Amino acid sequence: MPFSTLGLSAPLNKAVAELGYTKPTTIQAKAIPVILEGQNLIAAAQTGTGKTASFVLPILERLSQGQTQRKKRVRALILVPTRELAMQVEEKVTHYGKHLGLTSLAMYGGVDEQQQKQRLIDGVDVLVATPGRLIDMYGQRAVYFEEIEMVVLDEADRMLDMGFIEAINKILDRLPENIQFLLFSATLSNKVRDLAKSVVENPYEISI
Ligand code: AMP
Repeated sequence: MPFSTLGLSAPLNKAVAELGYTKPTTIQAKAIPVILEGQNLIAAAQTGTGKTASFVLPILERLSQGQTQRKKRVRALILVPTRELAMQVEEKVTHYGKHLGLTSLAMYGGVDEQQQKQRLIDGVDVLVATPGRLIDMYGQRAVYFEEIEMVVLDEADRMLDMGFIEAINKILDRLPENIQFLLFSATLSNKVRDLAKSVVENPYEISI
């Protein structure tokens, strides 16, 4: 099955072709159409399956469709457990979105806040963040949640193992209602399911 059958538009199909992707992986073939429809989703997928593209591509597609005028505030939020993953995922956002006019930022702790704050002021469409730093920046009113349309919890089981539940709940509580909720996890444990349940009822479920 070629990428072009998934419902993504030309700028995204071109970007993946340039990266040498010839066909979608299993998780991509299953998740991309569901996310494009606007459904809430929980998915069990390990690292290495192509899971990052399975949420980044449809997020970019939806944001580019809804782009009427340039908004300065974050429209898609991707929460990840570590700084390394934040950098990796944001790099993917940049690569896949290279033919779209969207902006992104990786935000994580352990580095000076000032540069991240300035980037937020300049305008960020897709924010990839670790929960602790995000809460910190939110408390300082450096980031606003009002325009967020989609949220991803990536490696949700790892974030729970690392003790981020309180920070995650704080963030989720402050997001707008009717947000599209996407959760990816190596396993869909009861704890992970409970977390999803606290946000959405009956999300679409994929296991690969
Ligand atoms: P991930 O599971 O998201 O960490 O992705 C694992 C690796 O697979 C990354 O290096 C991606 O660049 C690569 N990748 C993702 N999707 C595809 C695809 N459809 N075809 C070839 N490589 C891919």
